[in-house]
Parts: sequence; structure tokens; C-alpha cells
Amino acid sequence: MGSQLVQGPSWRLSDMYESLSDPQMAIDLKRARSVLDRVETLNGQLVEFQAVDVAQSLFRLLEESSTLLATVSVYGRCLISVDGQNDEALKVLGRLETDLKRLSVLSEPLSQFVDSADDATMTAYLSAPDVGASRFQVEHARSRRHTRLSLEQEALVKRLAQDGVNAWGKLYSQLSGMVRCDVELADGVRTLGLAQSATLMSSADDSVRHAAWRGINEGWGAHRESCAAILNALAGGRIEMCDERSQKVAVGFLDDSLHASRISQKTLDALMTVAREARPIGQRAAKLQARAYGKVGVGPWDLRAPAPVLGEGGTRAAIPFEKAMEQIASAYGEVDASMADFVRMMGEKGWIEGSVGPNKRPGAYCTGFRKSREPRVYMTYSGGASNVITLAHELGHAYHSWVMRDLPMSQTNYGMSLAETASTFGETLVRDALLRQSESAQDRLDMLWAEMSAFTGFTLNIPTRFEFESRFYEARKERPLRPAELSTMMSESWETWYGDALAEPDPMFWASKLHFSMSHMSFYNFPYLFGYLFSLGVYDKRALFGDTFFPRYVALLRDTGRMTAEDLALKHLDEDITDPSFWMSIIKRLELRVDAFETQLDEVGL
Ligand SMILES: [Zn+2]
Repeated sequence: MGSQLVQGPSWRLSDMYESLSDPQMAIDLKRARSVLDRVETLNGQLVEFQAVDVAQSLFRLLEESSTLLATVSVYGRCLISVDGQNDEALKVLGRLETDLKRLSVLSEPLSQFVDSADDATMTAYLSAPDVGASRFQVEHARSRRHTRLSLEQEALVKRLAQDGVNAWGKLYSQLSGMVRCDVELADGVRTLGLAQSATLMSSADDSVRHAAWRGINEGWGAHRESCAAILNALAGGRIEMCDERSQKVAVGFLDDSLHASRISQKTLDALMTVAREARPIGQRAAKLQARAYGKVGVGPWDLRAPAPVLGEGGTRAAIPFEKAMEQIASAYGEVDASMADFVRMMGEKGWIEGSVGPNKRPGAYCTGFRKSREPRVYMTYSGGASNVITLAHELGHAYHSWVMRDLPMSQTNYGMSLAETASTFGETLVRDALLRQSESAQDRLDMLWAEMSAFTGFTLNIPTRFEFESRFYEARKERPLRPAELSTMMSESWETWYGDALAEPDPMFWASKLHFSMSHMSFYNFPYLFGYLFSLGVYDKRALFGDTFFPRYVALLRDTGRMTAEDLALKHLDEDITDPSFWMSIIKRLELRVDAFETQLDEVGL
């Protein structure tokens, strides 16, 4: 039980607010609300006169209020993450929901103005330097102006979303809390919630994982009608909106997600074509993982299986937090000394939450206070090798925001496809360094195993989800689907991607995977594959660019909020990502890692 003693520090939030009763917070909220009052007045003028100077004032006021509201919101959510029972924080967040909804509704007239104005008006609008900083955002939004409905209709859509589309997402999370899983373990059947059952899915014992998966599937099975109703309603509503928005040009169900990811259909096609061609490589990695467990194929319960424990010297020592930070700093420092300094600064300033606590929420994330432009990393650090990798990943996100901290706010929002660039890059740096330094066969196996799990997860599992969702949306145009039909479609998607590397498919995955039921975004899958391969593409440039790599890397990160992914890759990597050969070259290098994994398994006799 020695590993229980290892934990990370608690973070310091006091450089933002001392507490929820900090007078500064009240001042910020008061200011945000009075700014919104002013917005409300100006909105009337904008709608009536369409004046450029009014629009510019609105841009500034909306940016100011959203900065203040987001700062308080992040502070509240940080407190909730550490203690889910923090009533005061929950109250503040509840109150804030009204403000954020108001902000969203009051932003609509300016969005409408920006979308509908003619080019000359836009040039005038962007001529003020602070407003002009939002040029990319404006032009990206305007590229879809033909899909806009009238101001009244758009406002109505937003208002109805609260109890319409968003309600389906909420229902799903309520169901998640109710699902009970009967898990058959060696000492009898235990009835568990989803979170506990999910934890068992990372057990080193194949039969425990399998039992947990069966329990989860049966648990969701009891709610299959409700889950199917959620999927059918979400997709049906979105398809209806696409039709409504197709007055000038046909709008497809993928368009929203592509636009939010700032990639083109052509890029997505290139990516998926290569993923399809590369299936045998991913399947080979999956079969090797199965072999290590003495099996022929992997099952859906193996996705988070750890590397098998080797008999001799197979113990894993817990890594103290300070040591992990040093390992990460030194790996980051291989790219540039300033990256090591950044990691150490995060530790010294107390901007990382890594303690082990009973009320802490699971998971890890990176966030930041918009007012001070200072990042925070959240996780539970208990000394495992996977914790070190998670920390390296989240510190990558923090680094990304850190190099952008002097940019105008309107240039700091990046699409999901580029959001994982710095994090996966940091993770890969650290994994490679640890692999080189590994002292035992177990360490080496653990690192390669994690790499293979990522590889199969991104190149087989993510496309499985994309394939299912595409087929489902196509079919949903005709009519709602029955639960059994969704299960058949899901099983076929698994078989298509995993082939003979699969022991059996996951028929209830459409219900058990949260991403299909999220109300704010559909196709929450292909950006993961894009982000994973793209960041490895960036990583591969280290050797080629040599000394010029670091400045180019930072320049690339700084441009993530003001370019499409295509332009970014062309400018900073000299690569055309609409060309399948870019993606294939990355896969080819990953294939060498599969070879290394096989050699390692041979060496340890697995
Ligand atoms: Zn991430």
C-alpha cells in the first residue's frame, strides 16, 4: 500500500480570488452585469441603425463581460473539482448560468451583424486595431453566413435549446447516474455504479475487465429505449436544422463539426482514407496486445487494460510527484530550455492540483483564468506511470495557453482538431524520454504498451465511432432507429475496423459512450484522430528542422487560434494536410513502433 502515500500538491487559486467571498469577485460580477446592461441598450441601436461604431463597442463590451464571467466560472469549477460537495461554489455557478445564458443571447445581434454585413462594412468594422484582431474569427464565421436564419429565428433556436436539444444531453447524464451494473467477480456479484465499474475496466485481470464490461452493458441495456430516444431526437433535430439552413447551399450533418474543427471535408476525407488503409497496422498492434494476455483477439473490455505484470522484477515503484516533475521538465527541456523552465514554474507557482482526496472528481484537465491569463492543471496524482504521462499531457495544454498569453483574446480560441497539438506533443516527448531511460523490462513494456493503446485507440476505435455515427445519421434521415438496429450498426462498425483482431464487438457502445449523446456537438470523434496524428506529424519535424524547430513550434502554437488547420500546416510545417501522403508518412513511422513493441514482447517471452 506504499503507493497510497504518494500524492501531488494542492493547487493555489488565491492569486485569482482569495475565496468565494473575495470582494474582488463581487466587483467582477457586478461589472460583468452592468456591461451586459449596456450591451442590451446598444443591441437595440445596432439592430436599428447597423452602425459600425456601435458594433465595435459591442465587440469590446462582450469581450469584457465574457472575460469576467469566464474567470468566475472557472474559479467555481476548480473548487467543485476538488470538492463536489462545495455548496457555496455550486450556488455561485448556478447563479452564473443565468448570466452566461444572457451573454449568449445578447451576443446574437453582433454575430448576426458580422455575418450579414457587406464587405465594405466589414472592412470598416475591422479597421479598429482591437476589433481587427478578430479578423480570422470573423472571416471563419462569415464563410458560413449562407446558413444563417433570421435574427428572430436564431434567437428562438438559442432559447429553445435550453429545454430542447440541451435537455437530451442532461437526460443522458441523469441516466448515467442511475445505471446499476451487476458485476460478477470471483467472490460474488457486486452491484456498482458506472464510475466504479469503469475503474474495473483498467484492471490487470482479464476476467475482472470482462465482467465489468458485461455489467456495464446490461446496466445500459435496461435503459436502451431511453438512450435510443436521446440519439434519435438529437440526430433528428440536427438534420431538421441542416434542412432549415440549406436555403442557399445544402448543409450536411458533418458541416457543424468540420467548421468547429476548422478543417475541410477534403482534409477529413484524406485522414479517413489513410486510417482505412492503415487498418492492418492497428490490427497488428491490437493482436500483439491480445497475445501478451494469452488471447487471440482483443475485446471492448481491453481498451484500457494495463500492460501485463512481468513475473521477475515486475513490480512498479510509485514515482514521487517531484520526481515526475523533474522527468517532465528534463524531457520538455530537450526541445528548449525555456520549456523546462515553464514546467518548473508551474510547480513553483502552485498551479497544479495533484492531491488525492475523497471528494475529488475523477479525470484530468487544463483550464485557465481569462482575466490573468494564468493556466491551472487538475488531476489526481498517485504515482503511477500513467499519472506521469497525464501530467505531461496537461502541462502541454498549459504550455499552449502560456505561449498565447499576450495575444488578443479573439485569437486564442482554437478548434478541437488543433487543441491536442501541444498536449500530445508533450506526452510523446516524455514517453520517449522515459523509454530511453527505462531501467527495467517492465518500465519499457509499460511505455510501449501505453503507446500501442493510444495507437489502436485513435486509429481503430475512433474511426469505429465515426463510422457508426455517419451510418446512423444517414439512416436517421428516413426514420428513428430501434435499439436493436443501433446495436447491429455498432457491431458492424467494430468488425469493419478491428477485423480479425477483435474477440467480439461492443453492441451497446452507442449507449455507453457519452460522446454520442452530447448536446453541444455531434461527431465528437474524428478531431481526436486528427489531433493525435497531427501532433505526431509536428513531433516528427524535430529532426528535420533541427535548431529552427523550437521557434517554428511556438509560432505554430501561437497561430492555432487564427488559422485553419490547412493554412497552419502549410505555413509552419510545409505540409499539405489535404493530401493523404502527409497522414500516411506519420502512420509509417508509427508502424516502426509496432515493430519495437513486438520485439519487446519477444524479449520478455509474452
Ligand atoms: Zn488533452
